[in-house]
Amino acid sequence: MAKTPITVAYGDGIGPEIMAATLEILEAAGAELSIEEVEIGERVYKRGIVTGLDPKAWESLTRTRVFLKAPITTPQGGGYKSLNVTMRTALNLFANVRPTVSYYPYVETKYPKMDVVIIRENEEDLYTGIEHRQTDQVVQCLKLISRPGSERVIRYAFDYARANGRKKVTCLVKDNIMKMTDGLFHQTFDRIAQEYPEIEHNSWIVDIGAAKLATTPESFDVVVMPNLYGDILSDVTAETSGSVGLAGSANIGERYAMFEAIHGSAPAIAGQGIANPSGLLLAAVMMLVHVGQSEVATRIHSAWLKTIEDGIHTPDIYRPGGHSVEKVGTAAFADAVVARLGQKPTTLKAVNYQDAPKTVPSPAQTSAKALKQLVGVDVFLDWDGGRPDQLAEKLESVPAGALNLDVITNRGIKVWPNGFPETFCTDHWRLRYRSRQEAPTARADVVSLLGNLVSAGFDVIKTENLYTFDGVPGYSQVPG
Ligand code: NAD
Repeated sequence: MAKTPITVAYGDGIGPEIMAATLEILEAAGAELSIEEVEIGERVYKRGIVTGLDPKAWESLTRTRVFLKAPITTPQGGGYKSLNVTMRTALNLFANVRPTVSYYPYVETKYPKMDVVIIRENEEDLYTGIEHRQTDQVVQCLKLISRPGSERVIRYAFDYARANGRKKVTCLVKDNIMKMTDGLFHQTFDRIAQEYPEIEHNSWIVDIGAAKLATTPESFDVVVMPNLYGDILSDVTAETSGSVGLAGSANIGERYAMFEAIHGSAPAIAGQGIANPSGLLLAAVMMLVHVGQSEVATRIHSAWLKTIEDGIHTPDIYRPGGHSVEKVGTAAFADAVVARLGQKPTTLKAVNYQDAPKTVPSPAQTSAKALKQLVGVDVFLDWDGGRPDQLAEKLESVPAGALNLDVITNRGIKVWPNGFPETFCTDHWRLRYRSRQEAPTARADVVSLLGNLVSAGFDVIKTENLYTFDGVPGYSQVPG
């Protein structure tokens, strides 16, 4: 078999120790890999490269397209960029796949039956990093959800379920509040689910869904969600399984894939030879399936399960008096897995990747464009001149042409007309202007309104055009 080229980074902290252990097992199991080592992380940051990624690493990555990455230490402050966020967006790794399994009774956990795969959207949502301070009192962060972005990760979740014999996909969103952003994710989920009639699907509002995931994880199978919820909840599930040291993750894109443990570089235990290499090893197992070496993946995962069953445990999961038999360090744990290659677990659920088709990410699909019409504008002001009625009074003298001031809000709450005097107001105001007639708004009317507001001395901090799409308002309504 031809060797598959992969890019490998040893990372920081416990990274070099767990990577050495992982590669030892991969080699002993007969993985056909040609390894290209690259440098990432703390030392690269300290050389003044703000991405933390040596330029040679890019060259290797764009050629091999497969990255096995140990955790790195991100220096605090200093304008450094998160290497993980850079990798995900630059390489278009849109799906983050994190399986979390309980290994009860061999690893202590309150949730003996958990076997859940969290698939997190990896590029959008509040992670686009578009933040602004707009007034003395108010900052904002833009939450961006796109239809192609949602479609790709949701379709990937259903394809993953189909390929891995999973029965159900659950979607977690907060679309009772974020009707447009999380609403788009939810509608996309419901639409795509129809293409997979053999797979059950359901959705929860993320707050109660998170509570259920944390208390009855056995009722979940595959769970797909936008970036922030996925970030938080995948850590919760990994931690409740027994140790963060046990879970691996795959970051999947159309052309590239990156595999890593879910935990960080654990500097407090670095250099002591006691870190659990399992998270990185299980990530490497996902990588072997990805590159078509399913048989080796099955051999390694089976031997690892047997090692856990035999009570050969690193300190993070070692519990005297329970099923732990021998407390071992990183290298001895790796040796124990190597010694069990060819064996299978006796009671833990066996794995077999040989029959599973690879989950191939589908390209984003294009759909017919909706008819977009401008019908008004939200103008945001920095103003600390008094109460809402006083602001409305001042605005009366600002010519608005074909536009009409419908409503004023402060932090999204209607304060004029007919606001509550008790509503607390910051210096951040929104004026909603809409066309007087049912006719579309002319762009020139928006421009002249802004000019008039500025001439009247108002500090316009931003605008959001109000559009309809095929006649449906593309903006949230003002409640109250
Ligand atoms: P961490 O995951 O490194 O450590 C959290 C806790 O879990 C610590 O008590 C640690 O000792 C323990 N732990 C983690 N991995 C373990 C393992 N394999 N075996 C045994 N115990 C383990 O999180 P942190 O302390 O918040 O972050 C440390 C550094 O890692 C920071 O610089 C952070 O930015 C970085 N980090 C990197 C990644 C990544 O590269 N993907 C992810 C998260 C954090």
